[in-house]
Amino acid sequence: MRTTLYSSEYDYITSIANKVIYKHVKSYPVDINAIMDSIKSICFKTYSCSDNSFREKSLKMSDTGYSYQTSDKKVLVYNDAAPQTSQNFSIVHELGHLGLDHFTKRELFFEDLCTEYNLCTYDPSELTGIPLENYNAFCECQEKAANYFADVLLAPNWAIDSVKPASPNELREIFNIGNTCAEIRFNSFKRWVRLNRPICSQFERINRMMIPICIK
Ligand SMILES: [Zn+2]
Repeated sequence: MRTTLYSSEYDYITSIANKVIYKHVKSYPVDINAIMDSIKSICFKTYSCSDNSFREKSLKMSDTGYSYQTSDKKVLVYNDAAPQTSQNFSIVHELGHLGLDHFTKRELFFEDLCTEYNLCTYDPSELTGIPLENYNAFCECQEKAANYFADVLLAPNWAIDSVKPASPNELREIFNIGNTCAEIRFNSFKRWVRLNRPICSQFERINRMMIPICIK
């Protein structure tokens, strides 16, 4: 079972990220609060929004954030005690899971897996052996996809191209992102330039024309 993404999947994620940028990002570096205000279809909550038991329950789920979907709503919960760049990444990573419809796809994958191996279970945590390996590999791909979505949304190629940072450090400062994200985006941007700046969606061109990049 593969744990890497196909290049067509990277292109698809880039196009979805640019659609979200088009709808909800007004300038770079991103103003995460403005993005959350702009997205009306998701209920955003902080770890500190309720009593201590909610915070403890949330920390058991993740140090940084998590999201879930029910039949009538999408909820994104993030740790507002984390450093700001980490909060930003975590929120956008969870937006990736929701925007790429990962919850539905994961459920369908689980159902297919149970059919394929003739399993009678309703809970992925009951999986063992090869079905568990396959399920974990599928989830790993989704994590990579959500990370890539976050990287692209926080510093898309066209925006990096407009400011041409000389180093990952400069990119980090301009886009107000973490070290890891800056390293990944800097290398990914160089590869994109070597490939002659391929465009995955029309939104990239529009975003480049419409969204200002504010350099401090
Ligand atoms: Zn995730």
